[in-house]
Order: sequence, then C-alpha cells, then structure tokens
Amino acid sequence: MKVSQLTADDVEIYIDSEFKARLPAQSEQEREEMIREIEHAGRFVGTICCWRDGKGALTLLDGHHRYDYWLGRREETPIGPPVVEEILLPEREAALDWMDSHALAGRNLNSKQASAIRGRRYNRKKPAAHRPKKGGQIAPLSDEGEKGGQTAPLSAATVADETGVSEDTIKRDGQYAAALDVIRKVNGKAATDLESGDLKLSKSDTIKMAALEPADISHCLKNLRYGSKWNEGLDNGAPEKTPQPEQPKDTAGRVIPEGLRDVFGVSRSASSMLNSAARYINEVLKLDIPTMPQSAVKVALKDLKAAVKAGLAHAVCPYCKGRGCQHCGQHGYVTKDQWDGIPEERRK
Ligand SMILES: [Zn+2]
Repeated sequence: MKVSQLTADDVEIYIDSEFKARLPAQSEQEREEMIREIEHAGRFVGTICCWRDGKGALTLLDGHHRYDYWLGRREETPIGPPVVEEILLPEREAALDWMDSHALAGRNLNSKQASAIRGRRYNRKKPAAHRPKKGGQIAPLSDEGEKGGQTAPLSAATVADETGVSEDTIKRDGQYAAALDVIRKVNGKAATDLESGDLKLSKSDTIKMAALEPADISHCLKNLRYGSKWNEGLDNGAPEKTPQPEQPKDTAGRVIPEGLRDVFGVSRSASSMLNSAARYINEVLKLDIPTMPQSAVKVALKDLKAAVKAGLAHAVCPYCKGRGCQHCGQHGYVTKDQWDGIPEERRK
C-alpha cells in the first residue's frame, strides 16, 4: 500500500468536504490528547493517509485533525511535517468505505457513531441491483468473499462477523445510517451532532424523523437544538401528540419559559464541563506524585465544584415565574442556594 514517503510539505493535499463531514468532531479533550502525544513524541505519530481521486488530487482520508494542527503550527514548531501515505483505492465509494472501516478500528466511538459506521458499511456492501458495476470493481477493500451468493442477509452476516455484533443489529444500523444520510442532506452539522450525541435523539426516533418531509425534519432539528421534544409541534404523524406538548422543565418540575432556556441549557453544559474538569484532577491525583498534597487538592476540588455549582441556574424563580423580580435579582431564575432559602410553600 505504501508507495511514497512524502511529507505534508512535499505535496498538495486536498480536503474533500464530504469526507471531512464524515469524521466525528474532535472533542476538546481529544484535541488536547493529540497535541500532548505530538509534543511528547516530538513528531507526528502515524502517517496521514491520502487517496488520489479520479482527477489526480491527493485527498485526505485520515489525519484531518493532525493536518489541521500542522497547518496552524508549521511556521513556529521545530517538529517536522507529518508523513503522507498514499492509499491505493479505485473509486470514491471505496475511499469512503476505507474511512469507515478505519474509524471502526481506530477511535473511541460512542455507540451511535459505531452504529452509523457499521450501517454505512452494510448499506454500501448490500448488493444493489440498480448499482452498475464498473469494470467489476465496486469495493475492493470489502472483497472478503460473501459466503455463497449475493443476498442481503449474508452481507449483514459479513459485516456482523467483522464488527462482532449480531446481524439484526447490523440491519438496524443500516436503517440508522440511511436515516442519518437523509438528515445530512437537510442539515449536515445536525447529522454529525446526532451521531456524536451533541444532539440527543434515540436511533429509533432518528429513523422516524428521517421519514418526514425535509421541512419537517428542519423543524424537528430546531426542536432538538432548543431542548424541546423532537417532534413537538408537528401536526402530522407525531406519535405522541398531546394538547400540552412536553416542554423543558427545571429541577423543580416547572416549565422553563422560552427566554430562560438558554441559561438553563448552558448551566447544564457548565455542569458537565465541571465534571470533566473534576475527572482530570482525579487523574492528576492518580499519578501518585510523592510531593502532591492529595488531601489539600481534594478539598480544593470539592470547594471548586461547590463554587461553580452555586452559580448555575437551578430553578425558575417561583415568585415571578421567570419574568424577573427582586427575589431573583431580575434574572428570572434562582441558584441552588437561593432555592434552598425559599420557604417550602413558595416553591410549589
Ligand atoms: Zn423572580
């Protein structure tokens, strides 16, 4: 496979937007780990993989994040450029399949990402009568020899074998991946966020959503962004249509008024970031540095958590129901401490 030992500075590398969109977004933590790894090793670890497309452009398949990092740093860093490896693939579909199988093998994927990738591989491999074979080569990478005949169930068995899940799972994955492809056409970012879990929706609801008209899909995606139930306000075919649609609620079970949803939303994010920070500090403690004042750090961490949590939106102000009053300092919501100071009978 390896035909060159070129570096990213020797060649012009082309970024294909469809390929790039397929990659799960890199979390802040993953980015930090990547940078640590590069700096620790004093070089780029692993090659960045490219494929020469039909027009002869060297297209990036794997290593987008490292390549990005290189482009941003090459003037200032003593680290040499990453080595480029050219992967020989006959066509675009094969390149996408290579990316998917590579992603399955390499990264820490969440269950939805893994499901979407398995499903794409299954959908791609499933023998399709309408897809003409070009020169007998469709997907050379997946030429593991389907056992006896070209039927869809056997293809599911092949992907199931490769990935260690059941055939039924593969078939459901196929539906999920197809649903994401439909949603991707409406809103590419949303499809990526559904896969990564940044937008929360079950696989079965994702499949239901994809069956809607594009305008309705857009509507549902907005619902998700604003923390409403995904199918709220759909007038056709919403499975659980009730006169009072479900709305986001605070910890006291009070519906959060529209104008306060952002602050409750970011409070939730802040709370999960705080948990990540705490996990990092706990990792630091596990390093067992002899001079580390373990208990002092633990106490400081506890104080830090309390301080941050004390600032988060906890409940809609029961006095003004969110409009803003002297009790809540015109914010419309109260913090946990404020809430605890409100008499029981007022909280209801
Ligand atoms: Zn108030």
